[in-house]
Amino acid sequence: MKQVLNFFRRKQAGPPAPRRIRDHHFGPDVLDASALKVIEVLNTNGFQAYLVGGCVRDALCAVKPKDFDVATDAPLETVSKLFRRSRIVGRRFPIVHVRLGRDLIEVSTFRQSISDKVVHDDRGMILRDSAFGTLQEDAFRRDFTVNALYYDPSSREIIDFVGGVDDIKAKKIRFIGDTKTRLAEDPVRILRAVRFSAKLGFSISADIMSSVKTAAKRLEAIPPARLFDEFLKLFLSGYAETVWRQLRETPLANALFPSCAPSSPLILAAMRNTDDRILNGASITPGFLVAVLLWDDFNARNDSREPEDDDPAFATLKSQQSYVAIPRRFGTFAREVWTIQERLLKRNVRSLDRLVTHKRFRAGYDFLCLQAESDESVRACADWWSEFQNADDSKRETLIAQLPKTSRKRNRGRNKRRAATQSSASTSTG
Ligand code: ATP
Ligand code: MG
Repeated sequence: MKQVLNFFRRKQAGPPAPRRIRDHHFGPDVLDASALKVIEVLNTNGFQAYLVGGCVRDALCAVKPKDFDVATDAPLETVSKLFRRSRIVGRRFPIVHVRLGRDLIEVSTFRQSISDKVVHDDRGMILRDSAFGTLQEDAFRRDFTVNALYYDPSSREIIDFVGGVDDIKAKKIRFIGDTKTRLAEDPVRILRAVRFSAKLGFSISADIMSSVKTAAKRLEAIPPARLFDEFLKLFLSGYAETVWRQLRETPLANALFPSCAPSSPLILAAMRNTDDRILNGASITPGFLVAVLLWDDFNARNDSREPEDDDPAFATLKSQQSYVAIPRRFGTFAREVWTIQERLLKRNVRSLDRLVTHKRFRAGYDFLCLQAESDESVRACADWWSEFQNADDSKRETLIAQLPKTSRKRNRGRNKRRAATQSSASTSTG
């Protein structure tokens, strides 16, 4: 009875006031000039506006924010009119992209708590949301408590409705509201939980982890193109190895890439290598990870290929499209990396010069070296190529002389090529 009375008292008194926190430690990184400019323009036009989401979270964790989001009570059309270089984007969750100089600021209008303007499917998944509300309602529509913090530059306060500051201190990823409902509304949130946990070293709350299996299944309903965007964020942000270690412990790895073996040492090595490259400022392409993740599938198809079958690379990429859709240019990249493996293993003397100037030689060689980390049978070949690239002409002659006889002879015909394909495929999947 007492509980019921308290409930009604709370209802009458309205929602609890947010915590306003002043003694936070923001580095200068969070005070992004362009985002502050956007807020200032909105404020001078009589609107509320705050920094929100990842930038506030990251700044509190002493991590440099990747981008800046602003939440306001100004309608999207008004925001768009106030900034010359801006446009409304997004169908599911419309927002305004504002460009100032080289910066892109994402401005969203406060979202309302669930109403009839939010369109769900029959399993509770949100299909469209264009219902606008108050700052408080906006906070409760965000996914995790740590993502629902607002920073008001004029008062220098963090506004916290949901206990996000405490969860940042406790290093915890927790949903706002009921976990099952929030995952049903948007199953991609499970991938976001893994991503933020890997990025910040936070733990994921136990109730989220116990819903992983259902959420993984529900990813089937997500458009594959959206999952590709999420794939990029998961693996090309500098903490792919940690993300992959978490994904492969759950059904999520195979929900995204059904044909891969989650325990594959090649995949783990490639994730680590991607992180290192990002750290060192080297170039990265999603195509390389696509090649790694689908390598086993390509090999299996290549091994069992009959003359009348489709190109195995094409078949591999096609079978992936309904999960995480791979844009054509990255699929082509993966295919080129796969097909060059055979040539790198064979080292046909007559085409060595052409091979080293092939546009995928470097990526193909990197791929071979990654395989060599866990596959003894490829190691000698990878080492050979490492030496060959650094060798002068006379050393190259010596290296060529060391090659098995078959490589030094002219390649005579299709049967031979096929045999080599099969042997290279079986050595490299090993
Ligand atoms: P980062 O930019 O570092 O990837 P972020 O938290 O800023 O992290 P964004 O995708 O930029 O992530 O989203 C900005 C904010 O919008 C989030 O912090 C969160 O408050 C809200 N948000 C984004 N995606 C969702 C979602 N699927 N469900 C609910 N809220 C979301
Ligand atoms: Mg962001």
